[in-house]
Amino acid sequence: MAERMLKFVQLAQETPEKRDVAARRFDFDEIYARYAPPQAAAQASRCSQCGVPFCQVHCPLSNNIPDWLKLTAEGRLEEAYEVSSATNNFPEICGRICPQDRLCEGNCVIEKGFESVTIGAVERYITDTAFDNGWVKPIRPTRERAESIGIVGAGPGGLAAAEELRRRGYQVHVYDRYDRVGGLMIYGIPGFKLEKEIVLRRWKLMEESGIRFHLGTEIGRDLSFAELRARHAAVLLATGVYKARDIGGPGAGLDGIVPALDYLTAANRHGLGDMVPDFASGRLDAEGKHVVVIGGGDTAMDCVRTAVRQGAASVKCLYRRDRANMPGSMREVKNAEEEGVEFVWLAAPEAFLGDGEVSGVRAMRMHLGLPDASGRQSVEPIEGSHFTLPAGLVIKALGFDPEDVPAACAEPDLGVTRWGTLKVGATSFMTNLQGVFAAGDIVRGASLVVWAIRDGRDAAQQIHGYVQQTTAVAVARTLS
Ligand SMILES: Cc1cc2nc3c(=O)[nH]c(=O)nc-3n(C[C@H](O)[C@H](O)[C@H](O)COP(=O)(O)OP(=O)(O)OC[C@H]3O[C@@H](n4cnc5c(N)ncnc54)[C@H](O)[C@@H]3O)c2cc1C
Ligand code: SF4
Repeated sequence: MAERMLKFVQLAQETPEKRDVAARRFDFDEIYARYAPPQAAAQASRCSQCGVPFCQVHCPLSNNIPDWLKLTAEGRLEEAYEVSSATNNFPEICGRICPQDRLCEGNCVIEKGFESVTIGAVERYITDTAFDNGWVKPIRPTRERAESIGIVGAGPGGLAAAEELRRRGYQVHVYDRYDRVGGLMIYGIPGFKLEKEIVLRRWKLMEESGIRFHLGTEIGRDLSFAELRARHAAVLLATGVYKARDIGGPGAGLDGIVPALDYLTAANRHGLGDMVPDFASGRLDAEGKHVVVIGGGDTAMDCVRTAVRQGAASVKCLYRRDRANMPGSMREVKNAEEEGVEFVWLAAPEAFLGDGEVSGVRAMRMHLGLPDASGRQSVEPIEGSHFTLPAGLVIKALGFDPEDVPAACAEPDLGVTRWGTLKVGATSFMTNLQGVFAAGDIVRGASLVVWAIRDGRDAAQQIHGYVQQTTAVAVARTLS
């Protein structure tokens, strides 16, 4: 092993080639190219194969990273794919959009003094290569089971659970109110981070695996929750969080002030070839406008970079804290800056100006005060520090809360936390309703794709145990 690995001393970190700003500012293609095979092998060989792999510990899926890095370094890519896909349903997606700087790569032990192994890029390379070579096959369960499972939500949480249950032979039905599969991966996250083709090829594979999708079907509207429960041996709610946090103040109701997800969904749908009236009318199109995005998370980063690509006259991101306290991934902040986005740190909106249509944002400078009970520094306005930014489009990207799921399901007994997320058993993933499980953002609050996959996998395991147990009890009753 030694001669192939531990190359971090003589070999510098090299990320896959990043497209030039001049080109990438004008399209929605991914900004990173794929490694060429020798480059992938060389970068994988930088792994030190350390005794305690902190990368694996800090990967929500506990991926066997050192193993697939070693196999990649040795050119054994089909085996690398087997190892990588054993713990992750969508490695090529995580490789593209996980915030690796906070997870696996941020905990790579060679980081001190040498830059970390490019784990995400190698993970993506392995599975993209596997798709090219036909190694990624539809699921063919060794035995079909009669029981069916109903999954609400075709985001990463629901899809990971669907795959794991289908693997065990269940008849899996996935319901989604959207017309396409993928949840936020298809309509939230823009193509420059995750090209839509990557999500669409997974959808095709799942259909070939025998997973049945019921799209355009909203539970609580098109099909009642009670009917759903009656149809299936168990139900998984993986509905995500969609209630956008709002902002008030004078002028908050002016035209041209829009929620982030409406804006991103319109851009993604337009890219997919759909006719989007609000995009066609210009309401959700940034072209030629001065754009101000309010917020500092990943959603805000996706909005500013989308606006750049739509040809905005200027794009500013208004965030009330500073760069160091920003929740968004630093990699994305850097990409946005390169693409011409201006960050206005330590500033918060006070009022929106305009007559019918928004024409500007009046903002105030802020400073960071003492830490509160949670340890986060408070934010305080600086008296007399008002300033105005011109704005023809203001995008509100302040985060998301859960919708009222018990009301939507007409099931007031469904237990929720004080944040409105669904309450589940710590390891059982079951809500307080028999046979009703929940996973992903609707349990955690707004989180990450990789955590939704983890939850979906774990919930599937618990659903399997539950169905086995209830079937055994039913058989025992019949016999007695
Ligand atoms: C703009 C944006 C950018 C992001 N960028 C990243 C990133 O770079 N990296 C990362 O790891 N994470 C990112 N995230 C977070 C990530 O997308 C989510 O954490 C993840 O998608 C959650 O998965 P989920 O399966 O729980 O829910 P979702 O992906 O939200 O899927 C839920 C699905 O349930 C459906 N649904 C809801 N209610 C019903 C109902 N009543 N009936 C039928 N269907 C219903 C919805 O239509 C949706 O398809 C981003 C989020 C946003 C908003
Ligand atoms: S799934 Fe995410 S955290 Fe885990 S190894 Fe891949 S990129 Fe890193």
